[in-house]
Amino acid sequence: MDDELRKIIRGIALLNASEHGGKTRSDSVISKVAGSKPELREKIKEIIPVISEIVSTVNAIPLVSQKSELESNFPELLVAKPKQDRTGLPPLEGAEQGKVVTRFPPEPNGYPHIGHAKAAIIDEEYAKMYGGKLIFRFDDTNPENERLEYYAAIKVGLDWLGVKYDQVKNTSDDIEIIYKKAEEFIQDGYAYVCTCNKESISKNRREMTACKCSLGDLAQNMKRWRNMFEKFKPGEAIVRFRGDMCSENTVMRDPTLLRIIDESHPIHKTRYRVWPNYDFAVAIEDSIDGVTHAFRTKEYELRNQLYYEILDKLKMRKPKVLVFSRLEFDGMPVSKRILKPLVQEGKVSGYDDPRLPTLEAMRRRGIVPEAIRKFVLSLSFTKSDTLAPFETLESFNRKIIDPTSIRLFIAVNPTKVIVKNNALTEIEIPNHPQRDMGKRKIQLDGSFFIPGDDAKSLKVGDEIRLLDLYNVKITKVDSNIEAEMTDATFKPEISKIQWIPAQNAVKIEVLIPKILFVNDQFNENSLEVQQALTEPYYLELNVGAEIQFVRYGYCRKDSANQVIYTHK
Ligand code: ATP
Ligand code: MG
Repeated sequence: MDDELRKIIRGIALLNASEHGGKTRSDSVISKVAGSKPELREKIKEIIPVISEIVSTVNAIPLVSQKSELESNFPELLVAKPKQDRTGLPPLEGAEQGKVVTRFPPEPNGYPHIGHAKAAIIDEEYAKMYGGKLIFRFDDTNPENERLEYYAAIKVGLDWLGVKYDQVKNTSDDIEIIYKKAEEFIQDGYAYVCTCNKESISKNRREMTACKCSLGDLAQNMKRWRNMFEKFKPGEAIVRFRGDMCSENTVMRDPTLLRIIDESHPIHKTRYRVWPNYDFAVAIEDSIDGVTHAFRTKEYELRNQLYYEILDKLKMRKPKVLVFSRLEFDGMPVSKRILKPLVQEGKVSGYDDPRLPTLEAMRRRGIVPEAIRKFVLSLSFTKSDTLAPFETLESFNRKIIDPTSIRLFIAVNPTKVIVKNNALTEIEIPNHPQRDMGKRKIQLDGSFFIPGDDAKSLKVGDEIRLLDLYNVKITKVDSNIEAEMTDATFKPEISKIQWIPAQNAVKIEVLIPKILFVNDQFNENSLEVQQALTEPYYLELNVGAEIQFVRYGYCRKDSANQVIYTHK
């Protein structure tokens, strides 16, 4: 055996011993050797005695010596490798193990949706991948749109998703710091207070001309700044960044940094009236929070220049801004701006209406958090907009819920079948075809309901099998169907039909969410409601239970008499 190989084995044994209190084992080392050197797998029999010998010499030396030998002879083994494993996310530019800080910064102005899930999951996965940390920060500096209810809803949504963060904070709690930075800006001449009206500001921006206010001296700016806290009314004065009124990037044409909003803030009430806008607040917060990698969706791309310039001029540390695409579904817009009016105008029943891409709607519909995570990580990590097929999310979900979904019979548009010579009063049916999920007892008296679609094609003389029960021959087709039991042997060639015992059938309503928008118009038929019958066992299931209705689809029990269609 060559020395090179002995050296590799010794390194592996030392590392394993040092990670396990100074003791390693042959079997661990063997599998690690086979794992890192696949070409040795065939020769492993020959190597085993060598491994055992090396293992005992390594175990014979104390832990400190193992560690120092590792450090001097095998430094490469001690470099932590980012766990790239299953996530499929590309490595982060400039990321250092243990030092990555990401943040998820929602504005508490609406209910969280699957787009937020994408952002939060990517932030979390990167923090995990590099052993770093995730900050969950409410960007709450626009009291006009923000409500306590939304802070709570976003937190509930993240917790449901299983996103783990290391710190929660509110941007509004740092408002005094932001004021200081604004003052510093004004003092240094990087910002000025503008009292022009909205129209002339827009006009100047379009025409690339500066306004008179930008020429004002420091004394004027400081006086106006102080007056923003008392004297001025909203809209009468704003702090503007001294950018470049001729810039190709319209964002840089002296953008607003702070403005007056006289609305009660959900947390600070009327304590503050001057509020930073998005660009100013986010840049300062990301910097003071120690964020190393700040993700934003593509529509903010033009704002990156402003973000960096603000931090440059404030001589503050600059995080790396990275851009990813917004998640959208065909016919299902993923944006608070679009979802809110649907709720406010009563077009949908609320934020948990199953047609919506909100997290509450996903949960109610039976989409599980694990499926959302798998789905998000399966999307290619690009800047181009992701029009992901909803079916991809459904197929991840199906794989996860299938093993634990109970199978029940369902009859939509039911037709009655009376079996004249039924002799059974009770049967037991397994709750899942493969897994042991128990059995249920069903009482029988010879009258059944079967799905209307199956009933339609039946003629006198046909033989069918009532699933899991027995075979019957049709003797009469009327508004009801009459039949006679023939035998119970399984006959592959005859149709198998599900049934509900008529004596205690349970009436349910199935809500079936359909595409929400067709050609950008709200689809008035986006919610189909079907009436159906199911087995009495349904009543024993908890709300939230996932059911696979035979030959129908997966549904989540929403209440005693309502289920929501999850997917096929
Ligand atoms: P909305 O249009 O829903 O109001 P937003 O960007 O204003 O979206 P925020 O609450 O400010 O929503 O967003 C918090 C984080 O979630 C941001 O990083 C934002 O980029 C991200 N995000 C929001 N919507 C999506 C989406 N559809 N796809 C991916 N990320 C999104
Ligand atoms: Mg927003």
